[in-house]
Amino acid sequence: MKTYFATQIYQKKMAFDLPDLVAEIRQIQAADKGGKAWSQTNYKKGYTSYGSMDRLHLMSSTFEKLQKKIDRHVQRYLKDLDYEASLKNIVMTNCWVNIMPKGAQHTAHIHPHSVISGTFYVAIPKGASAIKFEDPRLSHFMNAPLVKENAKIINQRFVSLQPRPGDVILFESWLKHEVPTNETSEPRISISFNYGWV
Ligand code: FE
Repeated sequence: MKTYFATQIYQKKMAFDLPDLVAEIRQIQAADKGGKAWSQTNYKKGYTSYGSMDRLHLMSSTFEKLQKKIDRHVQRYLKDLDYEASLKNIVMTNCWVNIMPKGAQHTAHIHPHSVISGTFYVAIPKGASAIKFEDPRLSHFMNAPLVKENAKIINQRFVSLQPRPGDVILFESWLKHEVPTNETSEPRISISFNYGWV
């Protein structure tokens, strides 16, 4: 038996100065009144600049450097997917920061209008939430039985990937994902981004 129609998710370690990045993210949070207000309504218990400053790669040299590093991984991922596209026509369109203290969560969603989405992990305390992906065929299973609890990973309907600090995870923007409630006392800090057509 062979596997067809695979869903491919990319995870790799990426070298970057993480303590400096945490400091800059904290500065952004401190100055971002609009983002804090937006987060109170849309990102309970946490802070995200998604609703206020979502083009950080165009505003900060640190984030511009980060973008250049992520570009290389996106280029590799597009190649792995055999897409007839490259960074000439697919570019980073949005980039924003996320701080999830204890009790914060990010419910299931997709990233409409983008091609590739992903996250760079800055601070992942021991025991912090993973990112959980949903099988994109979930609505097509009709009368299919449940899979066994110990099913092979390729047969499971949900897959949770545990990031380490410094990891970049890339996925296709149509793939539904969520971050379950963070239970650690230290915050989980990440930078998310979208790549879309020029
Ligand atoms: Fe997301």
